[in-house]
Amino acid sequence: MKIICIGRNYIAHINELGNARESHPVVFIKPDTAVLKGSDFYIPEFSNAVDYEVELLLKISKGGKYIQKENAHKHYEQIGIGIDFTARDLQNSLKERGLPWEIAKSFDGAAAIGNFFPKEEFDLTHLNFSLKKNAVLVQQGNTQQMIFSFDEIISYISQYFTLRIGDIIFTGTPVGVGKVAENDSLQAYIEDIKALDIRIF
Ligand code: ZN
Repeated sequence: MKIICIGRNYIAHINELGNARESHPVVFIKPDTAVLKGSDFYIPEFSNAVDYEVELLLKISKGGKYIQKENAHKHYEQIGIGIDFTARDLQNSLKERGLPWEIAKSFDGAAAIGNFFPKEEFDLTHLNFSLKKNAVLVQQGNTQQMIFSFDEIISYISQYFTLRIGDIIFTGTPVGVGKVAENDSLQAYIEDIKALDIRIF
């Protein structure tokens, strides 16, 4: 499986990092070795500034290429929540030099994945999600705030990458990203359901 991530999909988050709004989704990949499921997150020794980014996830249930926006909803049955861990110091230094920032986003453990739920259980067009750090609310988003919808994302990325069953899409983070420290705990929620619980070491 592969993980496909969307960057810069929420205006307020684009502004907090001083990035530009793009006319197409910003796309990057994480390998399957980045998956962190049911275990703790260890801050890697190569970074002094690992940020959390809470994001809604889509799990691909039907493969495809050149998927039309109108058909995109047939390609996922479940939604979930995850954290796109980012070595922000590394990413900023690579970005400044115009280099690919793969290692800042795709290192081992950088894709924390929580529980998935049938998409019918939610109103996907007005879906709330949030992240608490040490029991304090730090990020809160709603799918209404997305620049590119789930279906637009699937349609766009499937022009470049064949989607296969089991692939996971990270759909972008809302405002409020911040650094993790040793002994932090992170809990992510879809509406009121806790779907991810991680300790930082
Ligand atoms: Zn992200």
